[in-house]
Amino acid sequence: MTRDVASYTGGVVPHPAQNSEEIADVLLIEDDEEIGRQIADGLRAAGHPTRWSRTGYGGLAEAERHPPRVVLLDLGLPDIDGVDVARRLRAGNSNLLMIILTARTDEMDVVVGLDAGADDYLTKPVSLTVLLARLRAHLRHRPGTAPPEAVAVGPLSVDAAARRCRISDVEVDLRAKELDLLLALATRAGTAVTREDLMATVWDENWFGSTKTLDVTMAALRHRLALAADIAGVTPPIITTLRGHGYRLDPPELGE
Ligand code: CA
Repeated sequence: MTRDVASYTGGVVPHPAQNSEEIADVLLIEDDEEIGRQIADGLRAAGHPTRWSRTGYGGLAEAERHPPRVVLLDLGLPDIDGVDVARRLRAGNSNLLMIILTARTDEMDVVVGLDAGADDYLTKPVSLTVLLARLRAHLRHRPGTAPPEAVAVGPLSVDAAARRCRISDVEVDLRAKELDLLLALATRAGTAVTREDLMATVWDENWFGSTKTLDVTMAALRHRLALAADIAGVTPPIITTLRGHGYRLDPPELGE
């Protein structure tokens, strides 16, 4: 199959995405020639302007030159660990939608990749239909609107743009979902936020599964906040559990 990639950029769009909100420029970072070509062709055919880098450093440079909306990232790259690439991309662009591509068997890759800041993953061989559906779903749930830039609650500060959290001067090392969860609570500090609301904001509005994920993430978040507050020598921000309802973040009491 020697279909020319460039032929899609000009005119014919066989399977256009449904509306312009679902169109996103994609940076594909993939060293495998055949897989890369198949994905790039498919994305362009669906109307997504697509750039393709075959190396990790090339992809990072390209992302720096022209920040993409979406990155599809192969974790097995010839020049640099894909997880490192994920981490650097996330550090440079909090709004990026990042989907990692892994071999079916590499379960740890998925875990490590998601921890490094990826939003989702696809296993190889990648189904184009599934890839395009995932893109549509993610783009629907993440309109291009900017989230609140930074929130401060007492000594706690959460910077959405930089994806950083601090208590006083102590950096709190949060995973992606923990930071999202904290942001959802901190932007409404002092107000009760329902579990459903948090699930929809932090995970997916069509979430039908167990909300145990929320409890686990909350426990981890509380733990990390407590550790950092301890190092900073201040009272940690209090996240109160409202039984049968949700959670509320309260500013720490001032004084002793
Ligand atoms: Ca590879």
